Amino acid sequence: MPVCVHCAYPVKHLYTVYKTKSNIRLGVCPQCDQFLDPLIEHPTLILILDLVLLKSRVYLHLLFNRGAPPLETTVPDIDFNTKRRSDVWTDMIMLSAMAVIAETTLRILASTSIPEAAISESSILRTTVLVVLELLAQHLTTTLLTLVVLRVKGWYPSSTTTTTSKTTDGRQINFLPALIPLTLLYSSLLPLLLQLFLMIYYRPPTTSIRSVPSPQAMALFPPFAQELVLEATRFWNGTDRLRAGTRLLGGMSSGFGLRVLLPTKPWETTVIVLAGWVAAAGLGNAVQSMWSLI
Ligand SMILES: [Zn+2]
Repeated sequence: MPVCVHCAYPVKHLYTVYKTKSNIRLGVCPQCDQFLDPLIEHPTLILILDLVLLKSRVYLHLLFNRGAPPLETTVPDIDFNTKRRSDVWTDMIMLSAMAVIAETTLRILASTSIPEAAISESSILRTTVLVVLELLAQHLTTTLLTLVVLRVKGWYPSSTTTTTSKTTDGRQINFLPALIPLTLLYSSLLPLLLQLFLMIYYRPPTTSIRSVPSPQAMALFPPFAQELVLEATRFWNGTDRLRAGTRLLGGMSSGFGLRVLLPTKPWETTVIVLAGWVAAAGLGNAVQSMWSLI
C-alpha cells in the first residue's frame, strides 16, 4: 500500500490513469491535503538531488511508492504488496553489489600511490571479502538493533493496541525489516560514489606535508591542554580527510533516512547507526589481524 510522501498516510492509489486521455491525475492526501506523491512524475536526477539534499519525501517515495500501480478503471487491481516485497529485495541486492564494488575500488585506489603497478588478484579478492563482511556486519547489527527497539515500542510487530485502533501511519502498515538495510544503502551509496569520483582528481598525499601548531600557538594553551592538542593534531594528520568527510556525510544521511522510516527518537537512531559502524569496524579489524597472522 503506497503512502503520502508528506505525512505517510496510507492510500490505495497515488494517481489515476484515464483510458481515453493520455494524461494522469495525481491523487490528493485526505489527511494533509497535498498531492500524494509528486515524485512519480519526476526524472531520476531530481530523485538523486532530493537524496543529496536529504528530503524526507524522496525516502518515502523510494521505500514505499516505487512501482505502485495507478487506479485504472479498465484494469483489475494487482497485488502491489507481493510485487513490492520482491522489488525491495531486488533493489537491496543491486545496491549492495554497487556499494561493494565502489568501496572495494576506493580501498584499492587508496592503498597504493601507483594502483596499476601494485594491484594483484589476491589483494582484490581480500579487499572484496573484507568489504562484504563489513557491509554484512553493519547491516545485520543495525537491522537487529532496530527490530529490538521497534519490538519494545510495540511498533513492529504491531501490538494489539495499535492494531485495534486503526493506525494512519503508512510506514507501520507497510514496514518490512529489509527496508532498514535498503535505507542505509540509499543513504550511503551517493557519498561513496562522490568519493570515488573525487578520487579521480584528488589523491591524499602519501608522504607527509603535515601541519603542526607553531610554538606561539601552543603557548596559548594551558600546559595540561597542550598534550591533548598535539594528540588531536596527530590524529587529524593521520586521517584521510576525504574519506572521513564522505563517511560523515554517509553517516548523517543514514541517520536521517532511518529517522524518516522509523518512529525512533534522534538519540536512538544515532546509537543504532553508530552500533552498525562499530560492528563493521570491529569485524574488519579482527579479520585483518587474523589475515596478518597467516
Ligand atoms: Zn498527506
